[in-house]
Amino acid sequence: MKPELSVVIPVYNEESGLAKLFARLYPALDKLGISYEVLFVNDGSRDRSAAILSEQFRLRPDVTRVILFNGNYGQHMAILAGFQATRGDITVTLDADLQNPPEEIGHLVTKVREGYDYVGSIRRERQDVAWRTVASRVMNRLRERITRIKMTDQGNMLRAYGRNVIDLINQCSEVNTFIPALAYTFSRRPTEIIVEHEERAAGESKYSLYSLIRLNFDLITGFSLVPLQMFSMLGIGLSFVSAALFVVLLARRFLFGAEVEGVFTLFAITFFLLGVVLFGIGLVGEYVGRIYQQVRGRPRFVIQAILEEGAAVEPAHIVEPVNGTKG
Ligand code: UDP
Ligand code: MG
Repeated sequence: MKPELSVVIPVYNEESGLAKLFARLYPALDKLGISYEVLFVNDGSRDRSAAILSEQFRLRPDVTRVILFNGNYGQHMAILAGFQATRGDITVTLDADLQNPPEEIGHLVTKVREGYDYVGSIRRERQDVAWRTVASRVMNRLRERITRIKMTDQGNMLRAYGRNVIDLINQCSEVNTFIPALAYTFSRRPTEIIVEHEERAAGESKYSLYSLIRLNFDLITGFSLVPLQMFSMLGIGLSFVSAALFVVLLARRFLFGAEVEGVFTLFAITFFLLGVVLFGIGLVGEYVGRIYQQVRGRPRFVIQAILEEGAAVEPAHIVEPVNGTKG
C-alpha cells in the first residue's frame, strides 16, 4: 500500500507533451525496481490535459493518482497539493514538460538513501532562452546574499525530499511560497547533484515575465526581511546626507546670499529620490499584500476530484483550509 517513492508533477496546459512524458517516466520508474506512485496535479488546465491524465490513470491505476484542481492556482500550490497526498518515504518533484529527464530520478533516490533529506539539483547546461538564464543567475546571487538559503540553481524543480521535510511542509499554510526554499529551511542534511536539462518537449513556458517577477518576490519576501531593513538603512543614510546639505545651504545663504543656479541638478536628485521612495513603497506593498492574502485565510486551492485506486466516490469539492490542520 505504502510506496517507497512518490513523484509529484504539476500539469498546466501540457496536452501536447504528456504522451511523451508518460512514455519516458513510467519505464524509468519501473527500472528502479522500487514501489512508487506518480501524483499528477492538474492545475486547472484549459486544454485536454485533465482528460489525458484520467486516461493515463485508467491505464496504470496501480501507480497513478491524479488530483484535479477547479482552477489555476500556480505551480507551487499544485506541488503542495501533491505533497499532501504523497505516501512515499521519498518524494521527487519534476516538471511535466520533460525539461527534467525522468531518468535522473534514480540518482536523486540514491542520494536520499545515502542519508540526505533534501537533494537539490544543478542543471549541467540550462536549455532556456538567454534572458531567463541571465536573470536567473542575478536572482540566484541576490537570494544567496539576503536569505539563508544555499542553493546553486534555485529555478530547477527536479528535487528529492525526505518524509520529514514533506511532513513539515504539509504543516505550513503559506499562501505564497517557493517550495525548494521552504524545503531547504526544514532539511537537516541537504545536498545537491548535477543533472541534465533538456529543451521543453512541447508547448511553451507557462511563465511570463510578470509571473516570474511575482515568483521571485515570493522567494525574497517569503524568506527574508533584508529588503525592508536595507530600505531603513538607506533612509537613515539619506537623512544624514540631507541634514548635512541643509547645514551647508544655510551657511551659504548667509555668506553669499540667495541662489537659484543648479536647479536642474536639484531636479535630477529629486527625481532619483522619488524613484527610490516609490520603489520602497512598492516593496512594502509586496509584503503587505502577502500579509493580506494570508490573513484573509481563503483556501489556497480547491480540489475538484482525486482519481485514485480504492477511492469510493470522487469528492466534489475538497477545500484545503488555509490554517490547515492537515498533515
Ligand atoms: N505549471 C503549473 N501551473 C502554472 C504554471 C506552470 O502547474 O500556473 C507547471 C507546468 O505545467 C510545468 C511546470 O509547472 O509542469 C513548470 O512550468 P514551465 O515549464 O512552463 O516553467 P519553465 O520551465 O518555463 O520555468
Ligand atoms: Mg519548463
